[in-house]
Amino acid sequence: MIEVQNIHKSFGDNHVLRGIDAKFEPGKISLIIGGSGSGKSTLLKCMVGLHAPEQGKVIYNGEDFTRMDFEARIPIRKEIGMLFQNSALFDSMTVEQNIIFPLEMFSEMSRSEKVDRANYCLERVNLAGRNKLYPAELSGGMKKRVGIARAISMSPKYLFVDEPNSGLDPETAILIDELISELTDEYQCTTVVVTHDMNSVMGIGDYILFLYKGQKWWEGSNKEIAHTDVEELNNFVFASPF
Ligand code: ADP
Ligand code: MG
Repeated sequence: MIEVQNIHKSFGDNHVLRGIDAKFEPGKISLIIGGSGSGKSTLLKCMVGLHAPEQGKVIYNGEDFTRMDFEARIPIRKEIGMLFQNSALFDSMTVEQNIIFPLEMFSEMSRSEKVDRANYCLERVNLAGRNKLYPAELSGGMKKRVGIARAISMSPKYLFVDEPNSGLDPETAILIDELISELTDEYQCTTVVVTHDMNSVMGIGDYILFLYKGQKWWEGSNKEIAHTDVEELNNFVFASPF
């Protein structure tokens, strides 16, 4: 379980997150949704420790991550898998080297165990055998899948995924959503997906947190909005009266 309490984050004069409270449950998919610039990626980065919020707490299983020093964070960081908004693969590394990277940093595995793990992760994302390709040789959808393979290489307890569907055709986007659902079941991880794709809201979100200009605009389960069609939902969020 991850809890964020009263998170505030500014960049200079730009007060981006204005007191966010939310809870993210294990074995479930939570969606953070909102328009471009609403603070979704910033919130995710605060949650994994890439940004330090000026105020508020990020709590992992009762432990205040925000107040921990670098060393104390390591056990939690080992349990975090993250797909960045732009996939953030290392261009000079092969697919396999990209996937193994977290294992090189954090695991005691032997070389052959690491390769076995990379092979398993590639199979999971339906890219078996693509080990030796470089990111430049991959389509956008394949990059996302390699990013997901890297995110699951350490068998994450917490899976953070930023805009998994951006730039993908609708069919590939659905496959990626299905993959995230399967992985959440497999690892029983706390999954947090940032998206502006309303179809994901209808498809995979157990808990949904709408952000508008760095504030919580609405939260609830997808059952509560199941009666609403996507068009209406779009209008609801993006034409909100703030
Ligand atoms: P979203 O992911 O919802 O599109 P972001 O969290 O990326 O939004 O950005 C929210 C706001 O914070 C934007 O105004 C953006 O310009 C600003 N911002 C994000 N990251 C940085 C940064 N590293 N430095 C300065 N400003 C930033
Ligand atoms: Mg973003």
